[in-house]
Amino acid sequence: MGRNTDTKKLRPPSVDRLLKSKEMVLACDAYGRHLVADAIREEVALLRSSITSGVVTPPMMEPRNIFLAVNKRLSNWLRPSLQRVFNLTGTVLHTNLGRASIPVEALEAVAMVATGASNLEYDLGKGCRGDRDDHIEPLICKLTGADAATVVNNNAAAVLLLLNTLADKKEVLVSRGQLVEIGGSFRIPDIMKRAGCRLREVGTTNRTHKEDYAEVIEKKTALLMSVHTSNYVVTGFTAEVAQSDLAVIAHEHGLPYVVDLGSGMLIDMTQFGLPHEPTPQDAIADGADLVTFSSDKLLGGPQAGIIAGRADLIRKIKKNPLKRALRLDKMTIAALEAVLRLYLNPDCLVERLPSLRALSKPKTNIINEATEIAPAVSEALKKTATVGVIEMKSQVGSGSQPTSLLPSGGLAIVPAGGKKGRGSRLKALAAAFRNLPIPVIGRVTEDKFLLDFRCLDNRVEFETQLNQLRYS
Ligand SMILES: *Cc1c(COP(=O)(O)O)cnc(C)c1O
Repeated sequence: MGRNTDTKKLRPPSVDRLLKSKEMVLACDAYGRHLVADAIREEVALLRSSITSGVVTPPMMEPRNIFLAVNKRLSNWLRPSLQRVFNLTGTVLHTNLGRASIPVEALEAVAMVATGASNLEYDLGKGCRGDRDDHIEPLICKLTGADAATVVNNNAAAVLLLLNTLADKKEVLVSRGQLVEIGGSFRIPDIMKRAGCRLREVGTTNRTHKEDYAEVIEKKTALLMSVHTSNYVVTGFTAEVAQSDLAVIAHEHGLPYVVDLGSGMLIDMTQFGLPHEPTPQDAIADGADLVTFSSDKLLGGPQAGIIAGRADLIRKIKKNPLKRALRLDKMTIAALEAVLRLYLNPDCLVERLPSLRALSKPKTNIINEATEIAPAVSEALKKTATVGVIEMKSQVGSGSQPTSLLPSGGLAIVPAGGKKGRGSRLKALAAAFRNLPIPVIGRVTEDKFLLDFRCLDNRVEFETQLNQLRYS
């Protein structure tokens, strides 16, 4: 290396000559001539600039090494960016890992509409144009008791569309204790602004009373809104006005009352030993005119946002041009319809809905599985770390049920060696698991790397790839 005249005289082989070589002809067969030529061009350009800056060595110019570099470039280009991972973080509905896994029924429905034509917006009875919401609306109405419903891209879109339709240039009353931020990018006050309405905060952070609402209602008020504080709890000296009371206050003033439920589970979670989650049907029964909720949180479906409630308000919402911009695609509609159909038979839900199955998995089953898998993990790590089976706590995730932890189990992996440098060894250990063919995502604590087995969905695949673990 270095700036000497010898390396300056080096010249990479021409793109054409490389392209005609036996190795690159083989690459063309595998990847196509266009892509291979691109890769060679980029590699040659890199070599030229390395020559100019004097950081080149003669071996870099050897065709054999150029071929290696070109092939590496090609395989990097062709590796899918979005891939499957093992979610062993202990957070079941992990937003960064794609939230709910959809059931096979939903997958089959997606494949059916994605690979051919369908009656997406076509009324088969009348032989004329239909509405894409028609596949979902009757199911939501049946499951929630709402008169009408519509669906959009996610719950953030549902809230935006609702506010923009019903409160543009007007005021929306929300309790100060409910001005939530979800994952940093969804903040009720910001959504309000974008929807064109003004937020009027009511009460204080910890206590809001009935009179607080009645006092601030005026001509500019468009609606009253509750936001389910799904990702935090305010404890201590607190008070919030009940849904049913808010509905009464709103209706006394001729205003709609809307509830953003966030997760909005359609069935009673306590029957699975899980903490109670407010349901859309409860909110509607309490007098809410509209509710909004996600379909990829506790509901366990694809990403979408549902708005359900009064027919006249839903009609207005559907007419908003923003609805067109926020509408669902056919694959999501197919998946959502299939998932909602599963709810018609709640008795079979745990068996068929992967997210509910994971959430309700008993601790003893998880511990047993961890105990059986531990020796293989230990063997893969040889003497570089100790592996122990421990009890741990999973969480629901996606802002649902922030305070309720689910008893779970898994592996605690401690890198060999003392305290000094443990932090970086833990990072390297986590990286080694992430580098497996199907990346394994765990959780690093102060002194351990944790794998929570609640969401382990394919044990055989997990175990067979362990021999490729590279950590030293
Ligand atoms: C999660 C959540 C949202 C946003 O829902 P997405 O489907 O992620 O867009 C909005 N409001 C509340 C209360 C939530 O919990």
